[in-house]
Order: sequence, then C-alpha cells, then structure tokens
Amino acid sequence: MLDHDVVIVGGGLAGCRAALEIARRSPQANVALIAKTHPIRSHSVAAQGGIAATLKNVDDQDSWEAHAFDTVKGSDYLADQDAVAILTQEAPDVVIDLEHLGVLFSRLPDGRIAQRAFGGHSHNRTCYAADKTGHAILHELYCNLIRYGVTLYDEWYVLRLILEDNQAKGVVVYHILDGTLEVIRAKAVMFATGGYGRVFNTTSNDFASTGDGLAMAALAGLPLEDMEFVQFHPTGLYPAGVLISEAVRGEGAYLVNVEGDRFMANYAPSRMELAPRDITSRAITTEIRQGRGVHLDGSAGGPFVHLDLRHMGREKIMSRVPFCWEESHRLAGVDAIYEPIPVRPTIHYSMGGIPVTVNGQVRRSATAQVESFFAAGEAACVSVHGANRLGSNSLLECVVYGRRTGAAIAEYVAGRSLPEINEKFYLESAKQDIQTLLDQPGTLRIGALRQQVQDCMTQYCGVYRSEALILEGLAQLQDLKERYQTIRLDDKGTQWNTEILEALELRSLMIVGEIIMTSALNRKESRGAHCREDYPDRDDAAFLQHTLAYFTAGQVQLDHLPVTITQFEPKERKY
Ligand SMILES: Cc1cc2nc3c(=O)[nH]c(=O)nc-3n(C[C@H](O)[C@H](O)[C@H](O)COP(=O)(O)OP(=O)(O)OC[C@H]3O[C@@H](n4cnc5c(N)ncnc54)[C@H](O)[C@@H]3O)c2cc1C
Repeated sequence: MLDHDVVIVGGGLAGCRAALEIARRSPQANVALIAKTHPIRSHSVAAQGGIAATLKNVDDQDSWEAHAFDTVKGSDYLADQDAVAILTQEAPDVVIDLEHLGVLFSRLPDGRIAQRAFGGHSHNRTCYAADKTGHAILHELYCNLIRYGVTLYDEWYVLRLILEDNQAKGVVVYHILDGTLEVIRAKAVMFATGGYGRVFNTTSNDFASTGDGLAMAALAGLPLEDMEFVQFHPTGLYPAGVLISEAVRGEGAYLVNVEGDRFMANYAPSRMELAPRDITSRAITTEIRQGRGVHLDGSAGGPFVHLDLRHMGREKIMSRVPFCWEESHRLAGVDAIYEPIPVRPTIHYSMGGIPVTVNGQVRRSATAQVESFFAAGEAACVSVHGANRLGSNSLLECVVYGRRTGAAIAEYVAGRSLPEINEKFYLESAKQDIQTLLDQPGTLRIGALRQQVQDCMTQYCGVYRSEALILEGLAQLQDLKERYQTIRLDDKGTQWNTEILEALELRSLMIVGEIIMTSALNRKESRGAHCREDYPDRDDAAFLQHTLAYFTAGQVQLDHLPVTITQFEPKERKY
C-alpha cells in the first residue's frame, strides 16, 4: 500500500491548481497527483479562447457584479449565486497569480494582459494566450508541481474510490505500463477528473474525457448533480467535431446559412454571434433542420452552416486565432483566410457533476457532506454554470475552485492520521474485476458497443429532447448495458493493455449516459442547454432546483437540492 497525505486524481487545471495550493500552504504535506494521461495531456491543454476576469484592462466600466450577473443570466438562473460571487470576485487575483507564475498571456501595446469579447459576457473581459490559453496555463502549473516536489503518478488509471462509513480513504489504481494494482491511502482524496464528452458521438473533448470520476462517485453511492445539462458548443468543425473556439466569433467572425444570411439576427438580435452557447447551438440546429444548412458542394439542406472569417483579414486571423486557422486547414482542407469554415454544434462541456460546497467538499445529500472527499473543475458541480456555462468561465472555475479546494484540503489534513484500509480486500476485488473482463467469452468488439452507446446518446438526448425520444433512448441503453457482458478482449497481457482501459472507460460512459438521460427525462421544462420540445418553457415553480441523481443497485434515483439566490431574482432570459 502507498501512503500520501493527499491524493488528487486528475492532472488538468483543477487538479494541478489544487496541488500547487496545498504545496504552497503546507510545504511538508506529502501530495500525490494521479492521472491516466500525462498531466500536460489533460484536456485542459486544449482550451483555446481564454479565461474571464474583470481586470478592466480594456473596459473600465466592467465589474465583478457585471460578470456575476452575466454568469447567472447565462446559467438561466440555475447557478448558485454565492458560488458565482466567489468565482467572479476572486477572478482578477487568480489571473494575476497565474501571470506571476509565468503564464504567457497575450498583451496590449502597453504591456498589460489583453482581453477579448466572449459569448454572453457584456464586457470584454476574457484574458487569453492567442487561442492556446489552456496550453499556456497548464504547462506553467505543471512546472510548479515539479518545483514543489509533488509526487506524480502519470499513466496510472484509478479504478475505484475507497469510501467507507462516509469517509473517503483512498483509491485503487492500475498501472497502465505493466498492469500492477495498488491501493493508495490518504487523509484526503480529491477528484479533478474532468468531463465526459465521449459519452456522445461528436465532441470537442479528448479521448480521455470519459467521466470516470463521475462513474466512480456514483458507484460509491454518491449523488451527481444537474447531469441533464450538457453543453453543445455551437462551432464544432464539420465533420470531425473538434473545436473552433468562440474566440473566433469574439474577434468578429460571422455565422451564415446557405442563403448567406447572418441568421443570429433572428435568434439573439442584441448579441448576434456572441449570444450564449445554448441559444447559438439551437439556432444553428434549427437552421440545419429547416433546410438552410450547407452541403460540401455548397448546395442547400446540408448538415452544417458557415463560420466566415474572411472580412477579418489575414493578419488578424493569424495573430489572434492561428490555431483555429490551422485546425480548419489540416482537418477540413479549408483556408479560412479565403473560405468559410463548415461548423455545427458539438458536445463540449458538462455543467453538472459531483456536488460540492464552495470549499470543494463533496455532498452526500442535499443536507450532508462526505468526510475527506473533495472535488473541483469540470468533474465537480459547485454550480457556477447552472443550466448553461458562459465561455471562458470554466478555466476560471478550475483555477478559483482548484485554489479554494487546495486551501481547504491543506487545512483539513493538518493533524489528521491515515485511515485503516483492508488492502487485501480491495486488491483482490480489483484483480477479480479485471480477470472477469479478460475471461468474458463473448465476441462483441468494445469499439462497436461504444459507438452504439454514443449514437444512442446523441440521437435521443441531443440539442432537442422530448419524453418519447428519451424513453426510447433509455430502453436502448438498457439493452446495450446487457451486451457489455459479451464484449471480448483480445489482449490478455499486462503491458500497456489499452483494451482493459477501453472496457473500463466504456463502463463509465454507460453509467454517466444513463444518469444524464434519466435526469433529462425528469426535468419537464426547458432551461439553458436542456431543451424539451414537449415542455418548451422554463418552469420556475416546479423546477428552479438542482437535480441529484443516485445510481443505486444499477438504477437511477432522483432527489433535488435548492438553488441559492442572493443577488439576482430570476427573470425571463432574452438577448
Ligand atoms: C477544445 C476545448 C477548448 C476549451 N476552451 C476553453 C476556454 O477557452 N476557456 C474555458 O474557460 N474553458 C474551455 N474549455 C473547457 C475547459 O478546458 C475544461 O472544462 C477544463 O480545462 C477542465 O479541466 P479539469 O482540470 O477539470 O479536467 P481535465 O483537464 O479534463 O483533466 C482531467 C484529468 O483527469 C484524469 N483522469 C480522468 N479519469 C481518470 C482515471 N480514471 N484515472 C486517473 N486519471 C484520470 C485525466 O488523465 C486528466 O489528467 C475547453 C474545452 C475544450 C474541450
């Protein structure tokens, strides 16, 4: 058994920021960070457009209150406003701290950090490093973990959260390199395992975004919050689904349909291309459904619309959004200086997750918390995004709540001792689970079943939803769940056995998918990213509340949590 004071699962922005905070506050603490990828290959590294903070470098009328209001309105009034106030008040400080760590932000001519426009934000407040912001931040954080001597377990896959008597005691891990199993014991465990984009068939997320942390928490009997709110980013590159950052529209690009119309005028006249993502994604989907999408030969009725940058000119394109130019060129053969980019909505972000307090402590129910278990980042739901996240607020959440959670953990572990764990029991049980997978006699390919799950989620729980669609989707998922017992693993070895990982990740996808669909079925209203064609209006009387979903004995059971409203009374949301 390996012992550490703190074990953090996840090497993205949230996990790295928390580890840094613990190291700064308690240099003597023995902190371990585990990631199934190398930390700097976490999805955070792909973040493009920027991080919001009211530095007021280009707009002195901005304020944290304005940022908070935009965030709450963007969330369709489902965000917890105490958490949003913390997010927006602490934002300038965390960004300046990143700058002091060495993050190479883009600059104004006078040397201060540049700030650009972003969807749903009423002021230009998004700080950026061209369109590679996540890369710039994550690399600097990672270097600092090495400097502080944090123990890194990279390419170790966490299989299970050890939770006994309402206390998190450690994790069971699988070393991808050679198949070794270990129990890691700690005084506090933190999950920063990121999102679950791979539950769907078209996503901007990396291959590792399979919702493992969410599935492990659910299997340990803990609730997941607001899982019905799945963000579609309006501009996924067609057909790959990779992201063309909102920064491109922030810098002035247009969305046009096959008739050449800037159709956003019909959906959000005051914000046009910079409306929030839920509204813009529905607008694009509606244009495509009504036959005003484009085919690759330019004719009408096709599966995408155009993102037009041509009027921006070469210099602006190549200095502000060079990576988006490169992606379109490399993956779609489009030179955005001369041609419009084909785009359509792509699954991007998980608003819901493991419910936590504003100090990152995980909730066990609407009224109680779990001892020694913390979470932050995209895997958590402190609810600053409610029903729809604004762009550039997620990196901010990772850094603000990563720091707060790190501070809370440093305080929590001081003076505590390591818990008792029956190591043999956990090792045997993990060994047995893996052996069962290896011995399964079936013939079904993992990739085939995964594709069916992803297609099912996309078809029955997409941009537009209805009871009939979701019920059909849930029935299909039940059927697919049974077929999991029939997948075959060809690789029986211990060295770098990616089939074992794929089988485990598929289990996460199926659990998370079922929780998303059941939560979506229960929410009989339309709010933010959750759009029910059979219940087109928001219903505050019945549904101004968070969903809590428990996965008990293979069944999803629902409860709810009240929304914290402190500053802004819910109003109709118009742009
Ligand atoms: C293409 C793209 C662009 C984006 N651009 C922006 C932007 O400009 N601004 C913004 O605010 N947001 C943006 N976002 C969203 C934002 O990047 C993410 O929400 C955020 O970076 C998530 O960070 P995280 O630390 O929570 O998780 P991640 O960075 O996803 O890291 C998860 C970590 O958990 C580890 N892990 C997961 N499961 C296991 C397991 N079973 N065992 C061990 N380790 C595990 C992974 O290896 C990884 O290290 C973007 C997202 C994408 C996909």
